[in-house]
Amino acid sequence: MKEFAYERPTDVRDALIAADGGGRYLGGGTNLVDLMKEGVEAPTRLVDVRRLPLAGVSEAPDGGLVIGATTTNSDLAAHPEVRRRYPALSQAVLAGASGQLRNMATVGGNLLQRTRCAYFATQMCNKRVPGTGCPAIAGEHHNHAILGWTPSCVATHPSDMAVAMLAFDAVVRYETLDGPGEIPLADFYPPVGDTPHRETALPPGALITAVALPGSAVSPRSRYRKVRERASYAFATVSVAAGLDLDAGSVRIALGGVASRPWRARTAEAFLLEAPLTPEAFRAAADAELAAAEPLPGNAYKVRLAGNLIETVLKELRP
Ligand SMILES: Cc1cc2nc3c(=O)[nH]c(=O)nc-3n(C[C@H](O)[C@H](O)[C@H](O)COP(=O)(O)OP(=O)(O)OC[C@H]3O[C@@H](n4cnc5c(N)ncnc54)[C@H](O)[C@@H]3O)c2cc1C
Ligand code: SF4
Repeated sequence: MKEFAYERPTDVRDALIAADGGGRYLGGGTNLVDLMKEGVEAPTRLVDVRRLPLAGVSEAPDGGLVIGATTTNSDLAAHPEVRRRYPALSQAVLAGASGQLRNMATVGGNLLQRTRCAYFATQMCNKRVPGTGCPAIAGEHHNHAILGWTPSCVATHPSDMAVAMLAFDAVVRYETLDGPGEIPLADFYPPVGDTPHRETALPPGALITAVALPGSAVSPRSRYRKVRERASYAFATVSVAAGLDLDAGSVRIALGGVASRPWRARTAEAFLLEAPLTPEAFRAAADAELAAAEPLPGNAYKVRLAGNLIETVLKELRP
């Protein structure tokens, strides 16, 4: 690991100033520090955000919740209002990592964790250095993307939390030295295109301060299901966050483990707006969404898996 400076500000503006010119924010360090040890990341200054007044979950005027960026994954998952109003979010967070990691990991860091593509951690590739190629496409890709990928990169985004947040139209709030801003989570991760190294729409130096979850009639009746290669302590092979409000005929579906970003299943949602919410319609909606899938030889199993999981979760949500 290379030498780096370390700062621990207690004020947001001091943090922005400290990070200006190439410093990196440090949340729980559960991803960034690993990547520094592996030589993938080499920041010269770390700005620890855990003493900033950004932890906690508060009520929003629209009936939603505002989740502070330094709230730990454990505190988020255990919060009574998150469990009551957004159960899929609590379940998604608890499906990730381990108890020890969730105690350290923060909301901001979870959104910005980097892909678990094994090549990314061990050798140069387009995501690390543009133009160096993508060894995964002709190589080992059994857990890579089936939707929205390009020949530049076929990696998936690893966050469980972000999948549930996407289903409920979360908005990421941030601060920069030029002032505050916000980005809907749906626009937070740009399509991979030919720039897989550009992973978010955040301006340079931006500090994530919170994630706002709008009030929602559908979110209290929601669920997160994750298929993985081990029963715990493993990233998603495929995951589904879904919510169903039969009275309003409203449905939300987001997928994890299938694309370079959490994937909102808008085709399936649109299909179900026009159909009775029956098991047959759930299957047809899943098939409609996955008609766009372009699997590689090693990950074609994910298409069927994702379809089955969408159908299963929606059936579970139907009384
Ligand atoms: C063994 C293992 C298993 C795991 N399994 C899962 C899993 O199944 N599902 C899952 O979702 N995750 C999993 N994780 C990932 C874990 O959840 C993330 O490492 C964690 O959420 C990152 O949070 P952090 O606060 O530690 O981030 P850090 O490592 O501190 O930071 C990550 C990135 O976010 C940036 N950052 C942090 N805070 C801010 C902020 N406020 N504003 C701007 N930038 C910021 C940092 O600069 C860095 O680039 C696993 C991790 C490990 C090590
Ligand atoms: S899939 Fe993306 S991260 Fe993995 S080797 Fe290819 S370019 Fe790199």
